[in-house]
Amino acid sequence: MIAVVGSLNLDLVAPVPQHPVPGETVLGGDIAQHPGGKGANQAVAAARLGGNVAFVGRVGEDDAADVMLDAVRSEGVDATHITRTPGVATGRALIAVDPVGENTIIVSPGANGRVGAADCEAAADLLRKAAVTVLQQEVPDEANHAAARLAGGIVLHNPAPAVAGAVPPPHVDVLVPNRTELAALTGTPVPETIDEVVAAARKLTGAGAVLVTLGGDGVLLLEGTAHLHIPAFTVRPVDTTAAGDSFCGALAVALAEGRTLEQAARWACAAAAISTTRAGAQPSLARRDEVEAFLAG
Ligand code: ADP
Repeated sequence: MIAVVGSLNLDLVAPVPQHPVPGETVLGGDIAQHPGGKGANQAVAAARLGGNVAFVGRVGEDDAADVMLDAVRSEGVDATHITRTPGVATGRALIAVDPVGENTIIVSPGANGRVGAADCEAAADLLRKAAVTVLQQEVPDEANHAAARLAGGIVLHNPAPAVAGAVPPPHVDVLVPNRTELAALTGTPVPETIDEVVAAARKLTGAGAVLVTLGGDGVLLLEGTAHLHIPAFTVRPVDTTAAGDSFCGALAVALAEGRTLEQAARWACAAAAISTTRAGAQPSLARRDEVEAFLAG
């Protein structure tokens, strides 16, 4: 079983002719509403790939809470440990997209900001039994630290988004940053070449292994002193939203099935590549049969 401790956000997306400057109002187009949040995306990614997934998190007591609970339940994710929180709104992301696809995003954590150590302690049995516990940085550090402490299996931490001052838990087995998050964690400039990525990843101590996702350049696996560059699959990307979430969800499934880190990373690259060929976050996430067919060529 895979436990995901993390965020659930309802994404509200409005097209705008141009982004407003402070003090300005612009008239946008029709709002589209999608389930999102890194925690929910990664849980859905894993469930769609055949993972047995349980979620630990919080929503409010508003309509958005029902949308988010339906979204994860309809994918087969166990929502028993998602708590409705009185007096607070469900997390939302307010996204404005201009005609060239540039976006500005305001994330209002709402109930996600109330996830704490007590939520993890209430789910201690689940976390102890989980083959893999998956964490990100859209809930307070305190929750991640408690989850990592209670986890009986592999702890996979995706330190995203790159929140200034965020402190990853001390006991992480697999750390999965992208280039920007790696720079934030190490205080170095964003590494460009593979050598720069290796040098930056080596600065991370306290993680058993580091997998740096490199977009169209694939992934860099650092285990002890050894490193391996796994190139990305060649696809025609149309929208890379949630590529990282797709990768983390798939990695969790493969690790829970006992694959090695290298095997799991290659499999996750396939799932993530498929997700980049389709629009949106959760709608783009691959199913297991698609990954098997993709790998079979
Ligand atoms: P994030 O969305 O967190 O920034 P990345 O952009 O690094 O994450 O993407 C995560 C993974 O998705 C990559 O390691 C790679 O396997 C896959 N991926 C992303 N972009 C592409 C692409 N253009 N072509 C093929 N695979 C991609």
